[in-house]
Amino acid sequence: MKKIIFYLFFIIILVITMPIIFTDVFKTEETSSNEGIDEMFDYGEFSNIKLLHTETGEIEELNLDEYLYGVVASEMPASFEMEALKAQAVSARTYTIYQIKNGSKHDNCDLCDSSLHCQAWISKENRFARWEENLREEYWNKIVKSVNDTKGKLVLYNGEPINALFHSNSGGKTELALNVWGGDFPYFQVVETSGEDAYTSYNSEVQISKDELVSKMIEKYANFEIDFGKEDCIKIIEYTDSERVKKIKIGNIELSGVEVRNLFNLKSTKFSFEISKDTIKFAVIGYGHGVGLSQCGSDALAKQGKNYEEILKYYYKDVEISE
Ligand SMILES: [Zn+2]
Repeated sequence: MKKIIFYLFFIIILVITMPIIFTDVFKTEETSSNEGIDEMFDYGEFSNIKLLHTETGEIEELNLDEYLYGVVASEMPASFEMEALKAQAVSARTYTIYQIKNGSKHDNCDLCDSSLHCQAWISKENRFARWEENLREEYWNKIVKSVNDTKGKLVLYNGEPINALFHSNSGGKTELALNVWGGDFPYFQVVETSGEDAYTSYNSEVQISKDELVSKMIEKYANFEIDFGKEDCIKIIEYTDSERVKKIKIGNIELSGVEVRNLFNLKSTKFSFEISKDTIKFAVIGYGHGVGLSQCGSDALAKQGKNYEEILKYYYKDVEISE
């Protein structure tokens, strides 16, 4: 009888304490990824980033992972899947270290906060101001978790951090760096992703008047001439393997797709055009240069069940994910 009472007592104690033990375990797990820079990972010479704020000209020194919160927050919608955010965090970390290792584009700092030059960056305060109030905490926690859960992770090719370029939406197929900047990297190849057409950045249009086209062309090419009466006054001459415009002839001038994109503010070089009475309409697919990791593609892959390492290896070929 005494034995039974003892066992009963033991079981009661166990039942009472179990939930306390478990919630405690979950609590510490939650806070460890939500608190911010909890445990510092030692990035050696890359521990501190000198960030140039392009608007003020001010240079701020930040811990690498703390800097990455602002990059991920600025570069990818926080509503995206967790694994896509982690892939973005690792790409951004790798890109940052590659830039510093291979000579910064700046003299007095490591990177600037411009997406057109280095990598976009936003402060927590400014980010919060643009999010709906009821989503702020949840979104920021996701950003912080994407960085903290991938602490120390880098994308390596032959043991070296890669030039981990990324863009918004590939429009179905990624592009070779060779067709955008001329340089060649073995880890960038043409990669197909399905599901990118579900994002708003997939389709866009730019309409300009014929006069506007002429003035923009003359600004750059003084000898520019065009006869809109001719059917082939604008003609695509060559496409890249990812179906982007490689060469196009406008009037008497031959331009690259990249030049046309910059000249007329197109979201990508994957475009077609339509000439009507007074205007030229460009129909554009995808957003960004198209090289490396596609952010919308990453989210689509995450929705299909791929984890961040699989996503990174999908867009960067023959790479290792390492510390
Ligand atoms: Zn820069």
